[in-house]
Amino acid sequence: MYQRISSISMAVTVLLLVHSWVSADVGRTRAEEIRRLSPEVVQKIVRYTVPLPKEIRIQGVFLAESADCHLLLPKSDHPIVEQIAKEFRDQFAEHFKTELKIIREVTPGFQAVLICGKGDPQGLLLSEEDLLSLRKLPVSRDGYLIRTVEHGAKPPNHFGVVLAGVEPAGLFYASKTFLQLIRGLVSSQEEKSALVLPVVEIFDWPDLQERGLWGAYALEELGWLGERKMNLVETHATRLTLGPDGRGVAELDPALVERARRQAIKLVPIITHLDQLRRTGIFEAYPHLLGKGDPKKWPSWVDGPVCWAEQDAQRVLSDWVLSLARTDYGDAVTVWLSEAAVQCGCDTCIKENQYIMETRAAVAAWNEAKKIKPSLELRILLTQGSYPVNDKILAEVPPDVRIIYYDGGRTYTSSHQPMIEPRLEDFVKRGGWLGVCPQLTASWRIVSPFSGAQFIHARLAEFITKHLQCLYGYATPSIRYWDFNVEAAAEWSWNVHGRSTHEFAVSWAVRQNIAQPELVGQWSEILGPVSWDIYACGIPYPWFFGSLTQQVQSRRIIRPGEGRLAEIASPEQLLHDLEQAKKALEIAEQIGHPKLLAESEVILAYMQVLSALPELSLLLQKAKGVEKLAEADREKLKELQNQLAIARNTLKDALWRWARHCDPQVERRPPPRFLDTVEVCENTVKSLVETVAAILQPAN
Ligand SMILES: [Zn+2]
Repeated sequence: MYQRISSISMAVTVLLLVHSWVSADVGRTRAEEIRRLSPEVVQKIVRYTVPLPKEIRIQGVFLAESADCHLLLPKSDHPIVEQIAKEFRDQFAEHFKTELKIIREVTPGFQAVLICGKGDPQGLLLSEEDLLSLRKLPVSRDGYLIRTVEHGAKPPNHFGVVLAGVEPAGLFYASKTFLQLIRGLVSSQEEKSALVLPVVEIFDWPDLQERGLWGAYALEELGWLGERKMNLVETHATRLTLGPDGRGVAELDPALVERARRQAIKLVPIITHLDQLRRTGIFEAYPHLLGKGDPKKWPSWVDGPVCWAEQDAQRVLSDWVLSLARTDYGDAVTVWLSEAAVQCGCDTCIKENQYIMETRAAVAAWNEAKKIKPSLELRILLTQGSYPVNDKILAEVPPDVRIIYYDGGRTYTSSHQPMIEPRLEDFVKRGGWLGVCPQLTASWRIVSPFSGAQFIHARLAEFITKHLQCLYGYATPSIRYWDFNVEAAAEWSWNVHGRSTHEFAVSWAVRQNIAQPELVGQWSEILGPVSWDIYACGIPYPWFFGSLTQQVQSRRIIRPGEGRLAEIASPEQLLHDLEQAKKALEIAEQIGHPKLLAESEVILAYMQVLSALPELSLLLQKAKGVEKLAEADREKLKELQNQLAIARNTLKDALWRWARHCDPQVERRPPPRFLDTVEVCENTVKSLVETVAAILQPAN
């Protein structure tokens, strides 16, 4: 039997939303056994959790009476249970120098009980009835509770901790939160070796059902993602080909699936864009499947459309979905529609829309596969090519097909504009299941620092308000370069109303062990909106990839509020951003953290370029019609030239310094998109400086 700890006088409420299960029953509590914590210490400990639990109350800590600790875990062969045992054992050995003993028992739901010293852990297990509140949650798979309980019939009483979920993932997340709290506790304790445990009540569940990324780079960081309660990675099928008999064969490496399952991550294989299938060998085996038409008119990156009027095309796609469904791990498959709207010109296809034919082929393949695995999920990825007919696709799919909204321009953007348009909202209102594939970075094409708490919060707030189910983010070439933003996505895809953008940055700094975390909060609040403005304007991608140089050389006027500067509304805003970037650099200097310093320098350098452009473009235009510019204008041009030259030198140096802090291996294996970023920044600003120099030549 157990009693909840509920000494109200000692309770320090961190963030408590009223929930029916949190009753105010006053039990027997031995005050001398619980140490009070100051609100500051409680706040610091809670900052170690990520994401912030929805309901958390820390009442204090208790000093375990013995280092002889037992952890009861469910008798289950699910790999998560072994992972939980490993993480508890490792952390107890590291922090408390004690060997945690593991007991396996059958439990209602998935529960763990931790006891140090005397006591019967089995007696503390919650009943099925106690778990009802978890079962009723919108995302019950991931929901969990943690409770410190007092047990023993009479004094001296003891404490134990119960962690519970109704599915393995829930228990995994309970363990993550609990171990994060212990990390926080240990970091704030003076006697490092004392076995202290929190007296805590937590009830927690996510806002979004699926929270994750797509791309093979994410497979290197499954542990990182699991730690932050992200639960989805989509990756290309490890094999997507045709066998010697002409049948389609698709596979996902089972070892990868197993690694993902240990972190409560659903690994979903992708059947790649249907206009990019040449590598599978489909056209070698069946030359008649290559769509009719003039290949010279197809985009160069397209292999060619498939003729979906041919039965062999349907059969190969069905084989692929079937071969994934036949495996133990094949619970879901995602079919990516074509990126290019290139229609087969045969008599049948020409009467239909390409994307409707692709959608029907995917659904037909899924219906075949469901005969052997009725629970198989089909997910269809929309694209920029399908954009004009997305509403028709949404009307075409059966209700249980899941849709991911991707668009190479509209979801891979750092614009301030909302992303989910009315057609998609209507689909959700009709009961449709919708995910979205946004870049969580400055831009998919470049690698440049972006600690954009405000950007990520706005994205997630929109997705959650519009009742999406899935975040399918993109953060190439590695999470290492985007750890702040991806962690922020984990934070707010779980608990969008929890931490403010300021508090997230402070808590991030605490977890990163950066001195003066409060200053990091200030820094992020000042720099984040400036960075967002810069990346929304397409700096460095796509503006630095040719078009800015062209605009300046052809002496076109550049104004805030229009063209590429559309998202910086006015000259005042441009100036304000420049001043804020300077202020952020000063704060970064006070913090003294080299990565934040390099990031601030890069952002200030971008602002120095941006803020020079309107005046520069005016002066260049003025120089067009006159033999020689007035002296004052020449002086101003020299000043701008100097500002650009400084920015150019800073950019190269600071980008490299920043990258080295993200990835110490960057010099040995620099991501091509990072090299492109440095080169394009250097060359673009150099071309601007040279354009000004040409005007300033004595002849002019
Ligand atoms: Zn055709």
